[in-house]
Amino acid sequence: MSRHITSLLAIAAVTVALTPAIAQAAPTKPKKTEPVDCSQVKCLALTFDDGPGKYAGKLLDTLKKYNAKATFFLEGQYVHARPAYVKRMAQEGHELGNHSYTHPNFTNLEPEAIRSEIQKTQDAVKKASGVTPTLLRPPYGMADTQVSDVAAEFGMPMILWTAGSRDWATKNVKEIQKQTLSVAQPNGIILMHDWVKQTVDGMPSLIKTLQAKGYHLVTVSEVIKDENLQPGDIFPEPAGWDEK
Ligand SMILES: [Zn+2]
Repeated sequence: MSRHITSLLAIAAVTVALTPAIAQAAPTKPKKTEPVDCSQVKCLALTFDDGPGKYAGKLLDTLKKYNAKATFFLEGQYVHARPAYVKRMAQEGHELGNHSYTHPNFTNLEPEAIRSEIQKTQDAVKKASGVTPTLLRPPYGMADTQVSDVAAEFGMPMILWTAGSRDWATKNVKEIQKQTLSVAQPNGIILMHDWVKQTVDGMPSLIKTLQAKGYHLVTVSEVIKDENLQPGDIFPEPAGWDEK
């Protein structure tokens, strides 16, 4: 009896000793996620903005079924309204990014208002999921040097997209699939929305097709790993950004 207890204690001691090293290597990822090297294989990052939307639960079921990871650029007011989805996103290995609290055009705001939009969303996501976002997607993809400076204060690069699914415009399953497949490219970042029902409805067959084409569906942080982005940087850099 006492020997049994001793060996259990020994196991517990080993577990405790190992935990910090594991936590350091992969702070937010679940253990079962396989490492993917996007410099060696075809990667694509699907990103869902303005959520969590009404259909986030169904989307999460699909992503889980096909072992696909996504990035959610969350709007703080909906994080506050639907915290359970946010918690689930984090638990299931998806990336959580900041997309403001109420979706204003940041280029029309004073720095203090931008700061408040970002901070309130950071707080809401942290409260819902335990995770603090490290990426910012400014609403409408609108940024200038002032927005960049505030993003830098938060230590965040700004992430736009290489192409859009145009799901908000077409709201048609076949059109969303066709558009997404036509713009998919290695290390691409695709803009989608989990409040568009047709996006979520068409996701199983879209994911199957992308995976059949050899794409690994991963988070934004995976596809930008080699970009060495600094706080306040914008990626991909929009035309004319240098002159701002
Ligand atoms: Zn948006």
